[in-house]
Amino acid sequence: CGVFGVIGVSDASNFIALGLHALQHRGQEAGGIVTHDPETGFNQMRRFGLVRDNFTSADTMAKIPGGIGIGHVRYSTAGSKGQTAIRDVQPFFGEFSMGGAAIAHNGNITNALSLRRELIERGSIFQSTSDSECIIHLMARSMGRNIPDRMEEALRKVEGAFSVVAMTRTKLIGCRDPLGVRPLVLGKVGDGWVLASETCALDIIGADFVREIEPGEMVVINGSGVQSHFPFRPAASRFCIFEHVYFSRPDSQLGGRSVYETRENIGRELAKENPVDADLVCPVPDSGTPAAIGYSLESGIPYAMGIIRNNYMGRTFIEPTEQIRNMGVRLKLNVNRALIKGKRVILVDDSVVRGTTSRKIKEMILDAGAAEVHFRIASPPTAWPCFYGVDTPQREKLLAATMSEEEMRDHLGVDSLRFISLDGLYRAVGEANGRDSSCPAYCDACFSGEYPVAPSDMIEDGFQM
Ligand code: 5GP
Ligand code: SF4
Ligand code: MG
Repeated sequence: CGVFGVIGVSDASNFIALGLHALQHRGQEAGGIVTHDPETGFNQMRRFGLVRDNFTSADTMAKIPGGIGIGHVRYSTAGSKGQTAIRDVQPFFGEFSMGGAAIAHNGNITNALSLRRELIERGSIFQSTSDSECIIHLMARSMGRNIPDRMEEALRKVEGAFSVVAMTRTKLIGCRDPLGVRPLVLGKVGDGWVLASETCALDIIGADFVREIEPGEMVVINGSGVQSHFPFRPAASRFCIFEHVYFSRPDSQLGGRSVYETRENIGRELAKENPVDADLVCPVPDSGTPAAIGYSLESGIPYAMGIIRNNYMGRTFIEPTEQIRNMGVRLKLNVNRALIKGKRVILVDDSVVRGTTSRKIKEMILDAGAAEVHFRIASPPTAWPCFYGVDTPQREKLLAATMSEEEMRDHLGVDSLRFISLDGLYRAVGEANGRDSSCPAYCDACFSGEYPVAPSDMIEDGFQM
């Protein structure tokens, strides 16, 4: 998901809509905005679909006036079953004795089921199926004297990954879980302040990037500025390494470096580790593009656009049903036949999950007359599900969970298939010595199976680590 919040501007909703539009890659299922205006009070709007289709008309925007607000773009994650209802669309809102508050959450709460059970037993009335709603109910039960105190208390009971933005009538609040699994950044726009999942959402509104919110940090922003504190027990940070590989936008900054640069490095590492003689390096667009450029630069094999993407389709992976996902690849990608014919092609993609994308693409490329197809993947084999906010399927559906690399190559029917090593990936993201297995600098559970936070709901559900 993507989250965004702004305070101290004249029309918050337009800033939020723009910010969410820049974060659309983080979730395309639905979006919502909550604002506050002294005259109308809290205003809320939630819609299925893209920001540009829902939050652009002057009529709509006039219904969510105010100088402070937050927004959310939704991406359904591991826990969600079946179709999303509009009541699952964030931000969530609650009335407390000291006034209203809204929250928007990116990540996934790993003890949400047990929290929910406990809260329902004690009288909470849940409105949605979302793990994030627990936070509002925990806040309602807190004895804290103000909303930030209540939020702090609530978040101390929550396990897993959370980058949260929240608001009251007068305050914008941001918080990252102690491991800092999901990103969250602070920006300045005129006299106002912005919180956003990624820096690309600051760029679009002309805000300056101030800094990242730190793992375990909570900021409370009002008219007099930003107050920061660290309410959780300190822990070594474990940022999601897959944000670098795929999830974040290449024009965002993470950890002081552009994501694009990191992805190009990943491509270079991949070429060093897994060279092959070929005529062309082609990305699977768009997610494989920067890594393919890196691979080409390192290997000296020319880069070419062997696959053309139709820009009017979304990310295939995000379409919820298997059937649409299967079609999706063809709807979105087509082979540039004239270029491919008779060539030995290296295809670079960011990841292999179910293998649907790679299989279809291989078929299309061979149909077009390629002489050889070599897959090079910019992440290690995805052998474990993510429980921290990225929608990977159950373990059985992950190709790498049931097959060796050799078997995957045969299954995909390509001449060769190689993945970057975990160490290579760590080097590419700036850890010169690779992965320190005694305390890895990142979360890499989907590749290593080492979960930095025990996924207790899933374990209860029968998941075996
Ligand atoms: P597959 O087709 O193997 O199931 O999925 C791999 C493709 O899905 C890659 O091209 C990758 O860019 C894309 N993808 C989109 N969203 C995700 C995600 O959340 N996780 C992973 N691992 N891949 C994703
Ligand atoms: Fe990121 Fe993978 Fe960890 Fe999920 S399991 S937070 S995708 S590194
Ligand atoms: Mg892709």
